[in-house]
Amino acid sequence: MKKTTKLLTMALAMIMAACTLTACGGGAGKGDTITFGTNAEFPPFEYVTSNGVIGEYDGIDMAIAKQIAEESGMTAAVENMEFDSLLVALQNGQIDAVIAGMTATDERRETVDFSTTYYTATQVMIVKEDSDIAAATDMADKKICVVQGYTGEICVQDMGYTYEAFKKGTEAVMELVNGKCDVVVIDSATAQKYVGDNEGLKIVEDAGAFESEEYAIAVQKGNTELLDKINKAIDKMLADGTINELAVKYTEEATAE
Ligand code: GLN
Repeated sequence: MKKTTKLLTMALAMIMAACTLTACGGGAGKGDTITFGTNAEFPPFEYVTSNGVIGEYDGIDMAIAKQIAEESGMTAAVENMEFDSLLVALQNGQIDAVIAGMTATDERRETVDFSTTYYTATQVMIVKEDSDIAAATDMADKKICVVQGYTGEICVQDMGYTYEAFKKGTEAVMELVNGKCDVVVIDSATAQKYVGDNEGLKIVEDAGAFESEEYAIAVQKGNTELLDKINKAIDKMLADGTINELAVKYTEEATAE
């Protein structure tokens, strides 16, 4: 009896040690793993699938994260969480970096450091095919849906419009499909994916109203060691066309369904 207890205690201790080493409890910065935080609800950049590039996670960002780790002789791990929690988790040290189609905004720059830009996007409007919305100002008297904490929410807020915020892009798009809202404001590549997946929707652009947005990877302020590794890998992937190829590959896959 006593022996069993002792064995159990030892086994537990070993499991706990293993957890710390592999970051399965979420400890970041251990050994040779880079733990990337993401919100896997943002195709074609990150989504959950049966057989992704990093475990169950796939998409442009996941392929980039994997390569960044490999270039640095390390392994990439992913922690999936709500978009709103990512920067807090980064500051707490629960994750080492955030790769989430995240726009490097001045406000976010106050709390974290960003890598080189790896993708440029813009906000667009998804509407029903027969919608009369042709410009951002046409949203004034419409029911607007956004995703909570995304730059799309900030844009609509800055325009002074009222809106409803959802936790997930798919939820906002379902409201539109079901006729409960008139327009969804969201990032361009993700909008393309949703329009490809749902009948009767189209994209309306307004370059005058929505500025271009630069996606970058966030690290803790002052973590130059990791930032240098990330930037070196991104520069290489931009120069040799890898990121372009990934964008084409995942955009085609995303809309071909
Ligand atoms: N680019 C947008 C932002 O930074 C949306 C990102 C996302 O949903 N993953 O807020």
